[in-house]
Formats: sequence, C-alpha cells, structure tokens
Amino acid sequence: MKKDIRSYGYTELQKELEHLGEKAFRARQVYEWLHVKLSDSFAEMTNLSLKLREKLDGEYEIFPVSPVERQISRLDGTNKFLFRLWDGNMVESVLMRYKHGNSVCISSQAGCRMGCAFCASTIGGLKRNLTASEMLGQIYQIQKITGERVSNVVVMGTGEPLDNYENFVQFIRLLTDEHGLHISQRNVTVSTCGIVPNMLRLAEEGFQITLALSLHGSTQEKRRKLMPVANKYDLEEVLAACDTYFEKTGRRVTFEYSLVHGVNDREEDARELAAILRPRNCHLNLIPVNPVKERDFVRPSRENALNFKNKLEKSGINVTIRREMGSDIDGACGQLRRRYAEEEKIVDEI
Ligand code: SAH
Repeated sequence: MKKDIRSYGYTELQKELEHLGEKAFRARQVYEWLHVKLSDSFAEMTNLSLKLREKLDGEYEIFPVSPVERQISRLDGTNKFLFRLWDGNMVESVLMRYKHGNSVCISSQAGCRMGCAFCASTIGGLKRNLTASEMLGQIYQIQKITGERVSNVVVMGTGEPLDNYENFVQFIRLLTDEHGLHISQRNVTVSTCGIVPNMLRLAEEGFQITLALSLHGSTQEKRRKLMPVANKYDLEEVLAACDTYFEKTGRRVTFEYSLVHGVNDREEDARELAAILRPRNCHLNLIPVNPVKERDFVRPSRENALNFKNKLEKSGINVTIRREMGSDIDGACGQLRRRYAEEEKIVDEI
C-alpha cells in the first residue's frame, strides 16, 4: 500500500521529500497544498513539476474522507456529516455553530470497543483505528463543504481517542501546526472514558488541549455498571490521573456526566459527585442521556436535570447542562452511522 502523505508532520514530510531528492522548500509547498489549500489530489498541485507530481502519486496516497450524507438542523443550524473512508468504513462528524465560532466534533475510530452501556457507537464493536489524516480529513472536508473556518475541535465523536493514542497525538500535532490549519491547542478538547496510562502520557506531551473525563458514576461500583473500562482502571486511579493532567498542563479538567433517569440522577448521586469534585479545580458538564434505540435508558425531565444541577451548584461546583444541538437530526452520538449500517443491512437482505 502507498504511504499516507497527509499523516506526516511538517519536518517528517521534509525528510520524505529529501529522500526523493527534492529541496526542502518543496515540502513547504506540498504541506500547504495538503493542510492549507486542503487539496485532495496531486494533480491540483500546480506549482510542482509534472514529474514531481507523478513521483508523489507513485509513492503516496491522499486517503479519501468522502462525504456521503449531510443533515442540517432546522432548529440551530447544526450539521451532521457521514463520511466514507477508503475501505468502506463510515464515520460521522458534527459541525456546531456558536457565537464564539464553529466547532467540529470528530470521530477517532470506526466503532468502539469500550462498551459503555448507553452509547450507540460501541454497539457494533471496533472496526478499526482512524489514521491522523482521517481525523484531519473530517475537519478539512467540513471546511471545504461549508466554506467556513473551523476554530474549535472536540474529539467526542465515535471511538475512544486514547485507545488510538499515537494516531491521535499525531493528529493534534498536525491540527495545531503553524504550517497547517493552525488551530489553537486551547480550542481543542479530547474526551476519554479513562484509559489511565494514556492520560498520564498525554499529560507529558506538552500540549495545552483540554481533557474531558467521562465520569457518569459517583462511586466505583456505580461507574462500573455503566462503563466496563472501570473494571480495568478504578475511580481513584482515574481521578488521580486527572489531577496529574491538571498539575502538568495547568489546564482545568472537564468532567462529563450523562444523566440517566433513576440510575445516576438521584439525591445521593449529586451528593457523592459534589464530594468528588469540590476539592478539584474543574468543570462539570451534565449531558441528559440521549435515548438509544437499542438500549432502554431514559433521560431525566428538564426539571430533574435542573434540580441535579442546582444541588451541585450549591455545593460550589462549576456546572453546566450541555446545550442540546441538532436534536432533530439523528439524535445522539453514533446514531447516523448506526442508521446507515442498518439501512445497508436491509439492502443486503433484499
Ligand atoms: N470515548 C470518549 C468519547 C465518547 S463521546 C469518551 O468516552 O469520553 C463523548 C461523551 O458522550 C462521553 O462522555 C460519552 O460517555 C457520552 N455519551 C455517549 N453516548 C451517550 C448518550 N447516548 N447520551 C449521553 N451521552 C452519551
């Protein structure tokens, strides 16, 4: 298979081109075509000689992230995209429009093997890791399709980014490189279910990205019931890794807590959660659970969610309820991709 040219960092690409006997400035031109002009073919790179373009085409591939479907919310302008990768795997991404700019939520894996009880993305298991270029490609395609600049990126789509560590870290380097889109690291958030060794590695990378930890349970026992990963890394360890991340990076950690009616939204849950978070300089984001067809979790009423939030606020916790975006377009995380998988199954059966 040809080499994945869009996954090389700037200096790595320089070395590649030197090996081909080219001058260093050529790397700058190629990098600009790939990461600024967002070109998807060597043929477009018209300031390179035909010979070099042919040489590149022989050695490298610009792997496609091809748009298949776009849904636009009538409620808030949120866009959902479904992309097809070179091997037929599908991933979804979301563009959210805020006053402070455009934010894109990307997928880091095709499928997921973490098995969280309420999540649609994990139902078919993990298909494969995405490469750095496939994570970037989602953002590049969205910029190309909409003609709008993306200023914020959240890695909260399908997949567990810290289960695809090297590609994820390379993606962050490329995304924030001054020769490319140059998105500010402070405008990037990565969400993890709590893979402790890789949270600790990430703390050492020297990045300024925000870490979001999916907590969802206020005790080890409660968390374990919703998130199988808690069998491997217990709550104490995960919280200690969050503390390390804050100490090393100075970045306040965000805790995510999906509210499930009658499961983790009771009085005692709020009390226990407050006790965990009070000593920490952090932010709590409550996500009323998005019902997933294959599961029978129920979202709390608006009133219950507000009560839960108020209890935490009274305990001095910095807390918000996540604003629901695009609720009219295929609901929760991973559902567009799942629906597609089902439609394909139906087609197969006919
Ligand atoms: N693997 C990463 C990213 C997952 S998606 C992680 O676990 O953090 C981002 C957030 O959405 C996570 O907190 C995840 O637990 C949550 N989530 C997934 N499915 C959900 C659903 N149906 N309703 C509410 N939140 C959900």
